[in-house]
Amino acid sequence: MTRVCVPVCEKTIEALETAAVRASESGDIIELRIDCLTRLEDLQNVLSRVSRPVILTFRPREQGGHRDLDHQARQLFWKTAPRTDWWDVESDLAPETDWSHVIISHHDFAGVPEELTQIYERLAATPAAVLKIAVCANDIVDCIPVFRLLDRARAEGRDAIAVAMGNAGLATRVLGPSRGAFLTYAALDEDSGTAPGQITAQKLRSLYHIDQIDRETMICGLVGLPVMHSVSPHMHNAAFRNASINGVYLPLEVRDVQSFFKRMVHPVTRELDWKLRGLSVTAPHKSAVLEFLDWIEADAKEIGAVNTIVIDNDRLSGFNTDAAGFIAPLLDRFESLAGLRVAVIGAGGAARAAVWALLKQNATITILARDIEKARALGRTFDVSYEALSSKSFTDYDLVINATPLGSGELIDQTPATAEQLAGVRCVYDLVYNPMDTPLLKEACKAGCTTIRGLEMLVAQARIQFELWTGKPPSVQVMYDSAADALGA
Ligand code: NAP
Repeated sequence: MTRVCVPVCEKTIEALETAAVRASESGDIIELRIDCLTRLEDLQNVLSRVSRPVILTFRPREQGGHRDLDHQARQLFWKTAPRTDWWDVESDLAPETDWSHVIISHHDFAGVPEELTQIYERLAATPAAVLKIAVCANDIVDCIPVFRLLDRARAEGRDAIAVAMGNAGLATRVLGPSRGAFLTYAALDEDSGTAPGQITAQKLRSLYHIDQIDRETMICGLVGLPVMHSVSPHMHNAAFRNASINGVYLPLEVRDVQSFFKRMVHPVTRELDWKLRGLSVTAPHKSAVLEFLDWIEADAKEIGAVNTIVIDNDRLSGFNTDAAGFIAPLLDRFESLAGLRVAVIGAGGAARAAVWALLKQNATITILARDIEKARALGRTFDVSYEALSSKSFTDYDLVINATPLGSGELIDQTPATAEQLAGVRCVYDLVYNPMDTPLLKEACKAGCTTIRGLEMLVAQARIQFELWTGKPPSVQVMYDSAADALGA
């Protein structure tokens, strides 16, 4: 049974009541964080307005709460606290009598304590209704001991909540209930999370479809650092649902690729029993993953980067769908790319896949990069021309491709070329997809060029990934619309 618990933490009793009522719409259980109130007041009004089961929590600052509380103040609070469905009581404060509604909890905001097993055993030695352990994941492998705790509690017939806080612990929040967790916590709003890495209840339900996840659910994910703002989960989860596939796609924040592959991915060595089927790989790991694979397709070997992994029986196979995804929108628009004069701006990973794919189509390529040494290195690898990026006109090119981050993130207002520089160019293709309409594409429109958005490439490469994992073609429209929606278009 999947239970989503939405904690509410407000300074005034009025705000607590409003938030608790709102939380009842998305949560199955509401946690009232009494330690957030600046003044303790009668809770009866709030409790009468909440239509869901309630957990009451009064946590001291040193254990992640919002109040300086000594032992005596906490004991006094619980002596007079109203009876709710559950009380979350920290493990250093055992209740004197009735344990039937107690969640006995332990928190570690720094990492995974070495004595985790002893902590579990100490909690399990109490007659508390539910055992709760929240640790902090500094890398994704920190999810392993948390999943183990859930396995152990299930085997021992105990209700337990085990969660790894932080972005790297997201898998424990999404997969926890399907692995026996009594509940999973979720925020009411984007900015109202009460613990690191907590995502909204709305996301848990409408992006990850947490209510549908079970032990048979096929798991796929995006490996990279950072990954939390990726739109890939939106595309793949929407496509799984549209195709009636029992699958979930998660962002997997990985620092140490080697230990992730050994301990969580490779079926021969992994320590986690999960139905992992496929991985997307993004920066900075696209080249680093090569050495952990059993088989790599020839194209990916030539490009020197893998962005897709299929886990089949005991083998890991690597593919590169970036190159095919990159070229697909061009082949939709040009009958032939042979002899087309192409400027590729940038000399990083995306430029590399683009140059490789364009060469296969016999295009005539020039690489333009701000660092001439990097342009030279890539140019020599593929035996194509290269130049330093300058403010020269692009009039000698049919197609201009931006493979730099100019136009996104901190460089959102910047463009590698102006309308004047683009005069006479037939087509401009910006690999940046967030935002969908970049300054470069706006300049290209002014110059009368045909434009291609980076989102087309993103969807095209995702389509191939989906087919590799499921053997079925996804709805490209569903993928595009869900990504555009996530990008706020
Ligand atoms: P990368 O490996 O880090 O390479 C980035 C390239 O851009 C490098 O040549 C870098 O030069 C250059 N660059 C960075 N800042 C610059 C600036 N201010 N002015 C000029 N050049 C600059 O990144 P990547 O993986 O190739 O990705 C490049 C872009 O393509 C990103 O925006 C990414 O989101 C996008 N992309 C899109 C898709 C898609 O599916 N649409 C797929 C992959 C990538 P230095 O080496 O000198 O820093």
